[in-house]
Amino acid sequence: MSIGENIRAVGKESLVELDRQYMWHPMMPYSASQQPMVVAHGEGPYITTEDGNRYLDAMSGLWCVNLGYSQKSLAEAASEQMLEMPYYPLTHTHKPGIRLAEKLNQWLQGSYRIVYSNSGSEANEVSFKIARQYYEQMGEPNRWKIIARYRGYHGNTMGALAATGQFQRKYKYEPLAPGFLHVPPPDCYRCPFGHQAGLCQHECANYYEQVINWEIPETVAAIIIEPVISGGGVFVPPPEYLQRVREICNRYGVLMIVDEVICGFGRSGQPFGHQNYGITPDIVTMAKGITSGYLPLSATAIRDELFDVFRHDSEYAHLRHVNTFGGHPVACAVAIKTLEIMEEEHLVDRAAQLGQQLKTKLTPLANHLHVGDLRHFGLLAGIELVADKETKAPASPEFTAAVIAECKKRGVLIGKNGDTVRNFNNILTLCPPFIITDDELDHIVTVVKESIAKTTEQGVTA
Ligand code: PMP
Repeated sequence: MSIGENIRAVGKESLVELDRQYMWHPMMPYSASQQPMVVAHGEGPYITTEDGNRYLDAMSGLWCVNLGYSQKSLAEAASEQMLEMPYYPLTHTHKPGIRLAEKLNQWLQGSYRIVYSNSGSEANEVSFKIARQYYEQMGEPNRWKIIARYRGYHGNTMGALAATGQFQRKYKYEPLAPGFLHVPPPDCYRCPFGHQAGLCQHECANYYEQVINWEIPETVAAIIIEPVISGGGVFVPPPEYLQRVREICNRYGVLMIVDEVICGFGRSGQPFGHQNYGITPDIVTMAKGITSGYLPLSATAIRDELFDVFRHDSEYAHLRHVNTFGGHPVACAVAIKTLEIMEEEHLVDRAAQLGQQLKTKLTPLANHLHVGDLRHFGLLAGIELVADKETKAPASPEFTAAVIAECKKRGVLIGKNGDTVRNFNNILTLCPPFIITDDELDHIVTVVKESIAKTTEQGVTA
């Protein structure tokens, strides 16, 4: 059979067969990866599969399709830019790149230089390089350590993965990039210092200071921190936490890199997650929602004062980092349109409002015997399932998986996170698009509640 004939022969069944033959899907065991959902069509917050099933996507794809699946004007922006000027590297410059950098500054409410890449991981890699180069050029070349947090996620490349604090993603690939250290997360439900929520001295924030001192401050370049650890299980810090961390960074001259890959672009109910806490980061990394997931794009924003160190005319001081596709003009054009839609339709405020509704509607779920903790940050929620509320023993992976399967059976896709190595894979996540209606959001909550109840009734061992 020729290639053309082979393609024409592909129907729904054979797509699955071809997938089984050729594809390797991430993040799932082999047998699960052999039953892929072949996604065919998207409309608003819904996706439809090749076999005709329609699902309400309460995870916005992979935490990114904030505007839903049918924004025609994003496709038009891409098509116009492709016809106008489909590609040029940013060793020179182009209008969409410039205009987007200007817009990102408005959203950041500060003065930042923008470096573009293609993914969140790369944006973080760039931030590490800039932090190290900054200190090298400041005459402190020994400042190269970077402090991240356990349970945080910063990407899949060897540096970003080294920063990631989730052992299950790392241990098959070590040794990773050296120079990354970790501190305990602000997990108030399972406080690493044994405190009850609200009754602590912010030991998790103060821990940064201890580590910086133990390591000798003159060896620490930066910390990297998500405003709220999102993928790791939605760990919302106490309100003062980020300010304290910022103060510690200031005290020791350590740069603060804020990873806004999930929390950015309205997810938190503010343009960027850190704006909820009144801090100014030194470097901000962003991706996902920047194009609402329609094209790959990411950015690393460096505070203008820091950039002064690079504002030299010498060969010595330039950014020694380039990539072919970072800041692709088509992706930048789509990002500009994404942010324009968000502005015109007041979607940051809408996300805040929906987040409030989500919190109110989820609250009664706290009474369920297998719901240990509910956590919220704007339109982002984590539901921690437990076997026993007293001991806080995590719900079994089978129980959590059964709840998710039940939600899917009822037409709603939700997420799951945790720590598979220690069997703490018990946190349900919700991250719906900003364009859902009030009724659709209520429906998601109803389905989650019913699914937890049904799984419990069925006697699945939690
Ligand atoms: N940082 C955070 C906070 C993330 O959640 C992710 C991805 N989920 C990344 C970085 C990496 O982004 P990407 O998958 O685009 O490389």
